[in-house]
Amino acid sequence: MTLSAERPKLTLLLAAPRGFCAGVDRAVRIVEEALARHGAPVYVRHEIVHNRQVVESLRGKGAVFVAELDEVPDDGRPVVFSAHGVAKSVVSEALRRRFFTLDATCPLVTKVHREVERHHARGRHLLLIGHSGHPEVIGTMGQLSPEAVTLVEDVAGARSVQPPAGVPLAWSSQTTLSVDDTAEIVAVLTERFPGLIGPAKEDICYATSNRQAAVKTIVARGAELVVVVGAPNSSNSRRLAEVAERAGARRAVLVQRGADLDLSLVEGCRTVGLTAGASAPEALVQEVIAHLGGYFELAIEELRVADETVEFRLPPALARDLPSALDRRTLAAD
Ligand code: SF4
Repeated sequence: MTLSAERPKLTLLLAAPRGFCAGVDRAVRIVEEALARHGAPVYVRHEIVHNRQVVESLRGKGAVFVAELDEVPDDGRPVVFSAHGVAKSVVSEALRRRFFTLDATCPLVTKVHREVERHHARGRHLLLIGHSGHPEVIGTMGQLSPEAVTLVEDVAGARSVQPPAGVPLAWSSQTTLSVDDTAEIVAVLTERFPGLIGPAKEDICYATSNRQAAVKTIVARGAELVVVVGAPNSSNSRRLAEVAERAGARRAVLVQRGADLDLSLVEGCRTVGLTAGASAPEALVQEVIAHLGGYFELAIEELRVADETVEFRLPPALARDLPSALDRRTLAAD
């Protein structure tokens, strides 16, 4: 698309809340604080959060990302577990090697870990609703022995799953699923297994629910195209794109930063929606706005469906008053 003197008008609906959640904010602060206190390197098992710019920014400050603990030398450097949580075997391995660990598991994921343990302690077989291979699912399944949990990925899986006979059942879920898809899956499971026990409060976290509700609102207000700032491996970002299309948007696209947005998709649209997954900093949303603003005369309106005040404390080993990354708009540019 070329820049003309007369820029076409475009209404841009900003979903709110969007972007960083309290769990991601805490995880990033843990790595930053570990670097500030202990210097580089700080080892981080897996991407601390699913966002390339966040990971690159931390790498530039001295974080070393590893896939597994066997890549970490026995030299006493801090080792951070990512926001997605880890299996018990990973914690045991870190203990065995006497690592100095800092656990950045989101407290809302830890809550699910405790919940599945409780089900197991009460003799229930667990049906975990989630996506195979996602780090959070690996970590949650890894709280139990493999025979104590069965993964259910979708409605078809709910219809066909064959848990062990004669054992009471419970379900839990990944925190970043589609609220609507999960409700459908639970409805099928409940019909098939009438005694099925569920969480007292749903496992899908407040940030995921709020971002999905905000996306539905911008689509209801006329967004034909919805742009989601988020990484392709970010579960909650991908769900936002799905939710947008199911709510009636003609198309939803994931972009990692402003320049990634193909402007030919915007041509012909009068209203575009913009949101960001829970691992995407606001600076990247502003990049998309700047990119669009170079070609369109924008009328920007923010539609807020909830105020978020959740903030999680740092682990005791690091606690002290720090500015929240939620209030720092420069992370991606660091
Ligand atoms: Fe925690 Fe939800 Fe954020 Fe995941 S998306 S880190 S569960 S607040």
